[in-house]
Amino acid sequence: MIAVLKHGTTQQQTDHLVAWLRSMNLDVHISQGQDITILGLIGDTSRVDIDLLGSLEIVDTIKRVSEPFKQANRKFHPEDTVIEVGNVKIGGGHFAMIAGPCSVESEAQIIEVAAAVKAAGADVLRGGAFKPRTSPYAFQGMKDEGIRLLLKAKEATGLPIITEIMNIRALDLFADVDIIQVGARNMQNFDLLQELGKTDKPILLKRGLANTLQELLMSAEYIMSEGNENVILCERGIRSFETYTRNTLDLSAVPVLHELTHLPVVVDPSHATGKSKLVPPMAVAAAASGADGIMVEVHNDPARALCDGAQSLTPAQFAQLNKKVNLIREAIV
Ligand code: PEP
Ligand code: MN
Repeated sequence: MIAVLKHGTTQQQTDHLVAWLRSMNLDVHISQGQDITILGLIGDTSRVDIDLLGSLEIVDTIKRVSEPFKQANRKFHPEDTVIEVGNVKIGGGHFAMIAGPCSVESEAQIIEVAAAVKAAGADVLRGGAFKPRTSPYAFQGMKDEGIRLLLKAKEATGLPIITEIMNIRALDLFADVDIIQVGARNMQNFDLLQELGKTDKPILLKRGLANTLQELLMSAEYIMSEGNENVILCERGIRSFETYTRNTLDLSAVPVLHELTHLPVVVDPSHATGKSKLVPPMAVAAAASGADGIMVEVHNDPARALCDGAQSLTPAQFAQLNKKVNLIREAIV
């Protein structure tokens, strides 16, 4: 349920109303806009007398929110959420280009790729240290050493870093990581999501292989309901009957999510297509669809990559892509 307060309501009146609502065992989410204040009521609202609430002098309108996601809902928070990492902003008109290898493989590799993507205009460096691989015999990532090398690349280039967490036991290793990624395979690992909700780190939450947008938003809700509102959503392709591409990029997710939620939406055309030649056109399309950022895999030597070489761009290809994406961004504003 949401209560929109009248223009001119004082802080004291708002506090008074919030205290009364909380005394009914409801969580109250306050969204203070420029002109209006919106109170989002979470919990068992069946006991709230909607007529009584609506009759209060400071209350403009009351609406029941039928969607099961509340804190992620745009109705609760009409303004776009902007996530800040270092000097980089994501969302609300701020666009971030996230680039780097699928996996950290060595110090030389991550430093070389980090410098190259920075020179080509990347805002954030990606690199997997803990890799969720389909086969237990495949390269599983450099783990703690991978994070240490990513931090070296951050120090060398000044780029904020994003890397994936698979198990909450590894959380301490992520203390200096700027954005924690939850991969597609863990989108519904609710214990992991709740634990990440107790941190204040920005979380990039990838859509599961076969999950609906509502399920993605419910997973964001698991993080937000524990107190962490810094969530970035990522469309990375879903399973379909098509086999030519690794997944099917659901680009309509971008405008749909922008309508349903205030959280930023990033697109990963690398895992969506699985083929490097398809990454630039889909990145451009993602920018045109209004995405708040793009995450692409870039490798200094794709043919020898330990993971996902076929979908990795060279630094030169990434530089080209970035130019095109910037042109599209200028064209759509
Ligand atoms: C990744 O970004 O490294 C990754 C494993 O992606 P996804 O979880 O989307 O498969
Ligand atoms: Mn990958």
